[in-house]
Amino acid sequence: MPPDYPSILNEIAEAAKSEFGKGKVANYIPALAQVPAEKFGIALETIRGEQFGWGDSEERFSIQSISKVFTLALAFRLEGENLWKRVGLEPSGNPFNSLVQLEYEQGIPRNPFINAGALVVTDVLLEHYADPKAAILEFIHTLTGQNDIAYDLEVARSERETGYTNAALVNFMKSHGNIRHSVAAVLDVYFHQCSIAMSCRELARAFLLFANHGAIPATGERILTKSQAKRLNAIMLTCGFYDEAGEFAFAVGLPGKSGVGGGIVAIIPGELAIAVWSPELNEHGNSVLGIKALEMFTTLTGMSIF
Ligand code: GLU
Repeated sequence: MPPDYPSILNEIAEAAKSEFGKGKVANYIPALAQVPAEKFGIALETIRGEQFGWGDSEERFSIQSISKVFTLALAFRLEGENLWKRVGLEPSGNPFNSLVQLEYEQGIPRNPFINAGALVVTDVLLEHYADPKAAILEFIHTLTGQNDIAYDLEVARSERETGYTNAALVNFMKSHGNIRHSVAAVLDVYFHQCSIAMSCRELARAFLLFANHGAIPATGERILTKSQAKRLNAIMLTCGFYDEAGEFAFAVGLPGKSGVGGGIVAIIPGELAIAVWSPELNEHGNSVLGIKALEMFTTLTGMSIF
């Protein structure tokens, strides 16, 4: 018997209410600061195509760092294991934009989900695509079947206006020979990828690729090998939640990725993907209600990867 997802989502939404007001909406750019704190959506899709949603599950928001999973999947598919010469595979335990760690490690980022690592991944995409921004969107369109998913140009512009630390990271890695394109080109793609707007429903659909071992369930199209999908899921589990990845694995027990727009997507391999959105963040940059909701989900369903 599959779990009764509709009543489980209801129960989660009811309990999550008590968490409102405990976090802070991201305010480093006005476009994110203006998002109403009380937004809350959950969407779940199984690899068999069953869909369940609650609340603002169809409203698009800024996916921010969740985009790092899409760019990593593209780069890994193109570069294979060579990718790991330029970016490591260890959890960082440091804030996502740390310059200190990068200096110790001489321009080789700890993992592909801290900003430095994601910037190297973006540089890799510039090597393979004449127009990486178009390629990233096309990939997401293929995964979701939604061809109107797009960049939020206002968010992208604000990212650039405030992106001094990201510029510092790229410049530092360039001085160590780990960035091959111009600093401006890498930052332009990166700021755009952060600005992509998607709904929980679309994110859950897109992440079914990782739940379904590298093939899109709806079409059967194989994007990643089984081994590549396994490795990406491992990176999500160990590095997907800034410097809170250990606590997330402990509390929730699923691979996933969060972003400062308040989104979190997690997967149960062979079964489903689930996305939650609530803009209030904890001190690590993860959605307070998002973590609570996913913790309840694995508790109530008894499902996790452990
Ligand atoms: N766009 C922001 C940055 O790169 C935040 C990304 C995120 O962590 O969600 O600094």
